[in-house]
Order: sequence, then C-alpha cells, then structure tokens
Amino acid sequence: MSGNGIAIVGELAPDRLESIPAAKPWFARLLRRTEASRGAWRNIGTTWFIEPPSNDLAPLFDDYRRFLDDRFPQPWPATRQLLEYLDSGVADVRLRGERGADQTVDEARWRIDLVFSGCAGVGEVSAAVAAHWAGHWYKRRRDAIADRLTQAAGFTPHGLDEGLPVAGRFLPLEGGYYALYHDEPQPGFTAAGEIETHFEIDEAVLEDPLVDGDPLPAIEAHHAARMADGRCRCQLCAPDGLPGYAP
Ligand SMILES: [Zn+2]
Repeated sequence: MSGNGIAIVGELAPDRLESIPAAKPWFARLLRRTEASRGAWRNIGTTWFIEPPSNDLAPLFDDYRRFLDDRFPQPWPATRQLLEYLDSGVADVRLRGERGADQTVDEARWRIDLVFSGCAGVGEVSAAVAAHWAGHWYKRRRDAIADRLTQAAGFTPHGLDEGLPVAGRFLPLEGGYYALYHDEPQPGFTAAGEIETHFEIDEAVLEDPLVDGDPLPAIEAHHAARMADGRCRCQLCAPDGLPGYAP
C-alpha cells in the first residue's frame, strides 16, 4: 500500500443510510464510473463496499491540521517539512461501508478513513508520521470530534480501528526530515550498495540532489543505539527533545 492513515469506526445514522443509492446494474456502473464507485454498493468477491460522498467530513482534516499548529508553535525543520507535505493536498477523508454478501445494509460496518498519500512510494515515511500524529489527534480530541464534526455528518464514532497499528518511533534529522525506526534491521539501499539498517527515510530524500551522499549509514551509526530505548522523538511525543539529543 502506498500511504498511511487512521480509521475511525462507528455507526451511520439511518437517514444518512437512506440517502445512499441502491446498487446499480453493471452497465450503469460502466457508463458512470465515478458516481458508481463513490455512491453505490459494489462488490469484490463476497464483500460489498461503498464510499458515499463525504464532503461534510472534510472539516476533520482542518481540525487535525489546527491541532498540529497548536502543538507546534515553533516547528522544527523536520516538522515544518511535514506540515508542508500535509498542506500539499496529500490528505483525504473518506466514509466507507463494508458488509458481507449475506448481510443487510443495516448490518454494514462503517468507518471514516483519514489517509495520507505516500506520493507513489516516495513519501511513505512522511505518510507514517502524519498517521502517527493523527492517532494522537484523535485520542486527545475524540469527544470534540464526535460532538462537533462526525455527528453532524450522521456518524457516531466508537473509536480507532486498533487493527491498523500506527508505526510509532520517529527521529527528526538535521537535514529537515523524519526517519522511521524499525525494531529489526532491514535492507536499506545506498549508492554504495545494500546495508542493514533500523531506519527508513523517504525515497524523496534519497533522490533529493540537495542531500549529500547517502544519509542512511550515518543515521544508523549515530542514532541506532539511542532509538533502542523505545521512545519516539517526534515533536509531538518529545516537544522538548530528549536528553542527549536536541533536534
Ligand atoms: Zn511521536
């Protein structure tokens, strides 16, 4: 999958359900592909999906974005770059329903996805940071989100889909980007060949002509031991930095 995000599971109000059109015959779906794919039930195998129009949920992203501005009065270079990524149209809010072939529409499971594009694979770490922050945003603002945002759109949230674990430990770097730390080293690709590293950075950073050489070997050498303490060093989790490391 390219990208990352969170899913808020919940219930859809009956009147919102009634406004969703019934499944259309195959020729109607072919002729009006966009409308059919976003506005009516369609099946993949024995599971039926729907993505009703969800323009009224767009304020969710605005609330998330304001939450970040409140938390980051003085964004670090890596944070500032992440905010620019978020402001470039990479986020999407979607309402989704899913049901089995033997279930009625009333038995469907509903969720709101707040997703961040991985930009065709070159921004996967940025998307993971955005999802990490979205998990914090939801947990700290869940009551306000329910009262002011989702219920106005006919959706009663129950909580985050915990089946989608959000990748969790990040390190801001002097170059103005975040690295994702993995507990187990994995192959990393550098101009000098493949290395084993705990860190993953955006492909876009590796391809940036302004970034000197291969940052991964130096990041691994300088920071792997530090990150083994299990703590995330992003600006949200460690706003004052942590001992021994000032971003
Ligand atoms: Zn963090």
